[in-house]
Amino acid sequence: MFKLPEDINHFLKFFQKQGFQIYIVGGAVRSLLMNLPIKNWDFTTNAKPEEIIKLFPQAFYNNQYGTVSVPLKINQSDDLKPSQLILEVTPFRKEGKYLDFRHPKKISWAKTLKEDLSRRDFTINAMAYDGKKIIDPFDGRKDLQNKLIKAVGNPDERFNEDALRLLRAIRLASELGFFIEEETKKSIKKNARLITKISWERIRDELLRILASHYPAEGIIFLKNTNLLKYILPELDVCFAIPQKSPKRHHIFDVGTHSIMSLKYCPSKDVITRLATLLHDIGKAKTYRRDETTGLITFYNHEIVGTKLAKEIAHRLKLSNEQTDKFVRLVKYHQFTVSELQTDNAIRRFIREVGKENLPDILDLRTGDRIGSGAKPTSWRLELFKKRLVEVQKEPFKITDLKINGNDVMKILKIKPGPKVGQVLKKLFDQVVNKKIENKREALINEIKKMN
Ligand code: ATP
Ligand code: MG
Repeated sequence: MFKLPEDINHFLKFFQKQGFQIYIVGGAVRSLLMNLPIKNWDFTTNAKPEEIIKLFPQAFYNNQYGTVSVPLKINQSDDLKPSQLILEVTPFRKEGKYLDFRHPKKISWAKTLKEDLSRRDFTINAMAYDGKKIIDPFDGRKDLQNKLIKAVGNPDERFNEDALRLLRAIRLASELGFFIEEETKKSIKKNARLITKISWERIRDELLRILASHYPAEGIIFLKNTNLLKYILPELDVCFAIPQKSPKRHHIFDVGTHSIMSLKYCPSKDVITRLATLLHDIGKAKTYRRDETTGLITFYNHEIVGTKLAKEIAHRLKLSNEQTDKFVRLVKYHQFTVSELQTDNAIRRFIREVGKENLPDILDLRTGDRIGSGAKPTSWRLELFKKRLVEVQKEPFKITDLKINGNDVMKILKIKPGPKVGQVLKKLFDQVVNKKIENKREALINEIKKMN
């Protein structure tokens, strides 16, 4: 017996009182057994959509999977405020023939729970809970204990029915820290090409979930080992054949391995930062040159080539404009120098280019990049650079950040609007930037008076 939130218990009882069967299914059962918090509750029932809607007038039913959504206010636990939850209730389903490697030709209702569970993807997802006991016809509980993702039934058939399952297996493994059972893994590799039948939106969603998971690097390694990477991120796939160990170079790994190691050690939890960290060296495959006599390997302009590839990848994965902007900037500027010799102005330009809001992220990318090349997490130069990033931001960047404006200038100099006003402001701005005067109203006014 598991302790369910009271409102979920009521929900189950309410159905049962009306003479229906109802079960919690999917991720929620997994989470109950693993003692993890539950984000969404999926149910299955022998009631038909029309019958469910009769029970819950506030429910809505409008999708192709036969799912009825029931909005419910629940008290998760004493320390959580009540929140609006959408409970997804789907009548027992069976799946007919699959048409396009993704969608069953038509949905038909099944008579029994067992039938419904047998169309689910992995054994750990094919368990049900009725409030009293776990129904587990495919030994999902055992696989959960052994941390295994295993297809229900014949894996080849299951992946051919719905190719998205190829990625769901890897995503679940990355989220849960599980392994993929041998036969299932072999089958993913064998059927990897089927992923080309799946829309880029669905692929993106799974890829981003892999990157956001607890084990993103392991997830990408799974993608590589199962050949899926070739179809999803071919630009990264070819990087495993690019060596970079050469005289006078600190690198110890090939570009692909370095990319994965960088991701592994990137401290950011942000998925776009993680994506950029994984793909920061994507331009290296096309810019690889090896000098025959010295053996020196170079990748001139790899960040320029990488920027172009990053744009293509963002487009292919249909990232939002905001995600694309951030991702491309992080790749474009990942090579930033942290020399103590650069001027404040150079540092300011860097901040403008990367975007103030992306600074912590590009620093996290650098941390991953460093550890992923076998270096220490940081250096005195990098630490100094971070301090300077903070320092230079205390000074004005733009003329409009000055503590006076054009009106002040016109009043003090008794002049009319015109180019002179801008010239005076620019002069003040330069003086503040060069630390000749402070950005304080009084000091600036004094300075303007001197110009009279
Ligand atoms: P989470 O909600 O934490 O992502 P989940 O397991 O609940 O995990 P959902 O995508 O909500 O995942 O799916 C609910 C359940 O529906 C799954 O547990 C699985 O039983 C079934 N399912 C989902 N997608 C598929 C699929 N492509 N093929 C077969 N069964 C699926
Ligand atoms: Mg779910």
